[in-house]
Amino acid sequence: MGHNPALTRQTANMRWCLQNTFRKNDFRPLQRDVIVAVIEGHDVFLQASTSFGKSLCYQLPAVLKDWGLTIVVSPLLALMVDQVNALKALGISVETINSNTPQPEKKRVLQDMLCGHPGTRLLYVTPELCATEHFRRQLLVVHKQGQLIRIAIDEAHCISQWGHDFRPAYKELSWLRKNLINPPVPITAVTATATPRVRSDIIDILGLDVTRLKLFNTPSARPNIHYEVRYLEDFADDYSGAEDSQLSNILKWLRAIRTRREARLGAEEVAQLPPLSGIVYVGTRALAEHLAARLSSDETISAVPYHAGLEAENRSRIQERWKAPHPVQPSAEGKKPPTFSIIVATNAFGMGIDNPNVRFVVHWTPPSSFESFVQESGRAGRDGCAAASIVYYGLPERDRVQKFIYRDTEHHRRNGLENREAKLESFGKVIRYCESITRCRHELIKEFFGDFELEELGSQLPPSTPAPAGSTSPCDFACDFCKEGRGGLSKRRSKMASETEMSLLYADFG
Ligand SMILES: [Zn+2]
Repeated sequence: MGHNPALTRQTANMRWCLQNTFRKNDFRPLQRDVIVAVIEGHDVFLQASTSFGKSLCYQLPAVLKDWGLTIVVSPLLALMVDQVNALKALGISVETINSNTPQPEKKRVLQDMLCGHPGTRLLYVTPELCATEHFRRQLLVVHKQGQLIRIAIDEAHCISQWGHDFRPAYKELSWLRKNLINPPVPITAVTATATPRVRSDIIDILGLDVTRLKLFNTPSARPNIHYEVRYLEDFADDYSGAEDSQLSNILKWLRAIRTRREARLGAEEVAQLPPLSGIVYVGTRALAEHLAARLSSDETISAVPYHAGLEAENRSRIQERWKAPHPVQPSAEGKKPPTFSIIVATNAFGMGIDNPNVRFVVHWTPPSSFESFVQESGRAGRDGCAAASIVYYGLPERDRVQKFIYRDTEHHRRNGLENREAKLESFGKVIRYCESITRCRHELIKEFFGDFELEELGSQLPPSTPAPAGSTSPCDFACDFCKEGRGGLSKRRSKMASETEMSLLYADFG
C-alpha cells in the first residue's frame, strides 16, 4: 500500500484532516483502513461497536475532497441533530433536512444542493425523505451534475425485517443503487449490530456490489469483558423475597470488589480515586426508580435512575455528570465518597453515551434481544481495561419477556410476521446464551452474531492480542464457563441459586 504514491499522498492528507478538521490525534485501529476503502470508491460494509467511531468513516472522506456531496441517511432525529451540531462546531459545512426543518431552511439547503457546485459536504436526511418522489428527482439531478460522491447509511440494520429496529422506509433505499447509475454512487453501510441474516439483507436490499465490496468488523465479544450469567432461584410468587435475594447478591459482589480494591491500593488512596462506574439495565421505569433508591441506601453506592419518563433537562444533566471524569459530585463534609457510581436505566439509556470507563454492565432481567445484549454489555470497558457483563437469569423473567414480545409485536403488525419471528428468534438466542453451560460465552456471542461467517467473507478485523501461549481457554478465562467449567455452572444453574460463592472470584478489576 505504501508504494502507491497517490495513496500515500491521500493518507498524508487523511491524517492532516483528522488532526486539523476533526481535532483527533490518531485513528483507532482499523478505522484508517475503512476510510481508505471508502476513499477508493468501494462499497463498504462496516459492523463495529459504538466506540469505534463509525461516523468518521464517511465524514472524513466527505470533507477530505473539497467538492461534492455526501448524503447520510439516519433513522433517529436525536442522533442526526447530535452529529450535525458536532460537525458544525468543527466548522464543517453540514446540513440536515428532517421533519423539524422549517420550509425556508429546506429551500435554502436544496438550492445549494442543486446549484452545480454545492457548498454542503454532508447532508443528513431521514429514510422517509429518501423515499419521496421529489427528493429522488433532486438526487438524480445532483448525480447528473457529477456532484454526488457517496451515500452513507447509518444504522443500516434498520433495513431488515429480521433486525430488531426494522424501519419500513429503509427498504425503499433499494432505489438508490437501482437509479443512481452510470457511474454507480458508492454506498457505505454502517451498523453496530447485525446478525448474518440482517447482514445479507443489508447487502441484498442496498444492492451492494459484492465483487467490489469491502467488509470490516470489530469482534462482537470483547476480549476485555468478563461475561457471566447468574441464575436466580425461583421464589414462586414471593416478589419481594426474590428481589431481596437478587439485591443481596449484587451488593455482596460490589462489596467484594471494594474490599479487593482497598486491599490492593489502600483505603486512603481509594478515597481519592473517582468511583467505579456501572450500568444496571432494568425492564421498566418503575423498577429503575425503585432499584436506584434501594442501591443508594448502601453508603458506598451513588445510584440514579434513568428512563424516558424523566424530563429532558434531568436526563441531560445525568448524562453530563456521567460523562465527566469524576462522575459524582464531592460529597458533604465528613461523608465518605461513594465507591460506586451507578446508573439504573431502561434501554432509553444508550444513545450518545460517551463514558469509556464503565467497569460493569448488569442486566437485572434478561435483555429482550441478543442485539441489545451485545450493544448494552459492550458499553463496559471501552477503555480496554478489565470490565464485567453480568446477566441475571430466572425462569419467571424469561417468560415475562417472551409474553412482552408477543404483545408488542401484536401492536406493530404492519412490521409483518417475520418481524415477530425475528424478535422471538433473537430472544431465543438470549435464552440459549443464558442457559448454556457447555460453551465459552465469548464463543457463543461470536457464533450468534456471525463473526465466523464474516471472517469467511473476508472481513477485516482490528489487530488483536492473541491469548497467552499455553492458555487452555479460548477467552483466556474471561467468562464463567471457562472459569468454573461445566460442573460448576451446572451446579449453579440447577439450583438457580441466588447466592454463589463462585462469583466472588470475579471481583478483580478496578
Ligand atoms: Zn470463555
